[in-house]
Amino acid sequence: MTHLTELSLSEGLAKLNAGELSAVDWTQAYLDRITQTDPAIHAYLTVTDTLALEQARQADEARARGEQLPLLGVPIAIKDAISTKGIETTCGSKILAGYRPVFNATAVERLLQAGAIMLGKVNLDEFAMGSTTENSAYGVTRNPWNLEHVPGGSSGGSGAAVAGGLAAASLGTDTGGSVRLPGSFCGISALKPSYGRVSRFGLIAYGSSLDQIGSLGWTVEDVTRVMQVMAGHDPKDSTSMRLDVPDYLAQLGDSIRGMKLGIPKEYFIEDAIQPEVLRAIRAGITQLEQLGAEIVEISLPHTEYCLSAYYIIAMSEASSNLARYDGIRFGAKINKDDMWDSYRATRGQGFGEEVKRRILIGTYTLSAGYYDAYYGKAQAVRTLVKQDFDRAFESVDAIVTPVAPTTANRFGSASSDPMQMYLMDVFSVSANLAGIPGMSIPCGFDDAGLPIGMQLLGAQFKEETLIKLGHAYQQVTDWHTHRPKPIHA
Ligand code: GLN
Repeated sequence: MTHLTELSLSEGLAKLNAGELSAVDWTQAYLDRITQTDPAIHAYLTVTDTLALEQARQADEARARGEQLPLLGVPIAIKDAISTKGIETTCGSKILAGYRPVFNATAVERLLQAGAIMLGKVNLDEFAMGSTTENSAYGVTRNPWNLEHVPGGSSGGSGAAVAGGLAAASLGTDTGGSVRLPGSFCGISALKPSYGRVSRFGLIAYGSSLDQIGSLGWTVEDVTRVMQVMAGHDPKDSTSMRLDVPDYLAQLGDSIRGMKLGIPKEYFIEDAIQPEVLRAIRAGITQLEQLGAEIVEISLPHTEYCLSAYYIIAMSEASSNLARYDGIRFGAKINKDDMWDSYRATRGQGFGEEVKRRILIGTYTLSAGYYDAYYGKAQAVRTLVKQDFDRAFESVDAIVTPVAPTTANRFGSASSDPMQMYLMDVFSVSANLAGIPGMSIPCGFDDAGLPIGMQLLGAQFKEETLIKLGHAYQQVTDWHTHRPKPIHA
């Protein structure tokens, strides 16, 4: 029998609805597994066990009363960049140690309203800045497929929580790939919606024009169930669009016959990509072709400028967003006699090295005399990147690429050199620059047994195209059914 913690969200939900499983038992199974194995993985920063069991009891009672809610009794982990009322929210930083928001992020509120159970808060690179979760002030998270390897970042805790059997699904955030990269490295499915599809209210800002909350789970159906609940306009976030949210779930199972898929030649550079990754993506494309999709080669000519433009924009926005951490309104404060000394000490000791590097670079690229040369140019490039995609989506329905050039790296190999780490995002940042949705789905393993993710990109607000494609793919493949070997901490 499949262990309760190995069920996909949709399998568990079906059991709950059939009366074969209680929310309390499912929740307890995850809590037990967290106790047993999370000391080795370290996905969680905070486990809200008492609250989770109370929510689970209420979910079982609600179900017994006949209430029907889309996620009733489903245990979920929340990235610690997302505000949770009364529950410590650190964003992976010492500067927010002890910070307990007085409100829930809208995404969290909607999950709770839909009956979901919150298991706790999961680890991330400090302020979501990183690709490996090695930049957290609270220690690294390990990849459940191989504890010597990173889980990806910045939502590494969200990826490891699902892959490690420590939650049925999770929320992550994606500013430049941070939902899709951990999805890929952890062998699970992950969906970053279009900019404006999900409210950012209560999401601790990194790069506000790029940030989106996304969902991670074993299957495309799982991440869709979570997205269905989160998506939609929120009066508290003026950048969330006033657009109807399609019934995504109703489209699961639709045929993909006749869909046109673009393969951008700039994303398939032979010697820049690990051969096993290239092979797995090509096999994935063939599989989609066999399902009736039509494959066309396309070009996204400004791809080579994406990474530079992304890092300038992200760091510029971060330098501005992070100015608010002065020790007065949020989290930790170091008191000195003089106000300026207090600021210096609080920010000097509260922020980690990577965050400081980015505040410095971002301040530089925004300063008078350099603004036009860096920030202004990066914004111009951003428009060109968006136009590349607009042009492509005139002739194709979706685009298929690798999520990253490699599988999960060993600890230390990227974090020792910031440039190495930034290069891991080479295929993922374009979606954030253009504001379009992106999905990562498992499509194979490398020779060392580490998972490989295939990226699907769609036109803005066309999440349903990716959902149809990903789900169709998972009906004829079994990569999403593999589970890592049990870990004994
Ligand atoms: N690795 C990228 C960065 O450090 C993306 C992070 C993210 O999406 N939060 O900026």
